[in-house]
Amino acid sequence: MHCPFCGAHDTKVIDSRLVAEGEQVRRRRECLACQERYTTFETAELVMPRIIKQDGSRQPFDEDKLRAGLQRALEKRPVSVERLEEAIAHIKHQLRATGEREVKSLTLGEWVMEELQKLDEVAYIRFASVYKRFQDLNEFREEIERLSREPTQHS
Ligand SMILES: [Zn+2]
Repeated sequence: MHCPFCGAHDTKVIDSRLVAEGEQVRRRRECLACQERYTTFETAELVMPRIIKQDGSRQPFDEDKLRAGLQRALEKRPVSVERLEEAIAHIKHQLRATGEREVKSLTLGEWVMEELQKLDEVAYIRFASVYKRFQDLNEFREEIERLSREPTQHS
């Protein structure tokens, strides 16, 4: 993205939001060279960020992989396909709304856990125990105790 005022290449995204029913991303940018600010509209398809894995490698966002991971956690749990798809749509929306080119897999994992926590606590624990690789059993127990104290959310 070149600055329309001075042509410099380095710009900073100040604000990013979805517009046109999620089809476009409106970005407020600031040029790092001349400090002018301007707005761009970009097609949302182009801005699905890549995922930064923990080893530092980058991968394209893989919706099928996300779905498979959620399905594994939700196996034999009383959660409808509709609610699963809603959760996936919500995660994709969050990814796009970051306005970032790259998002850490850890961040994605946190969002998945948030969605699972809303859907089903057993599925959440299943996913979290694998994903977070709880340091020790105490940490795992604390998480379960925390969950049992919180009222169940049905959204
Ligand atoms: Zn500039």
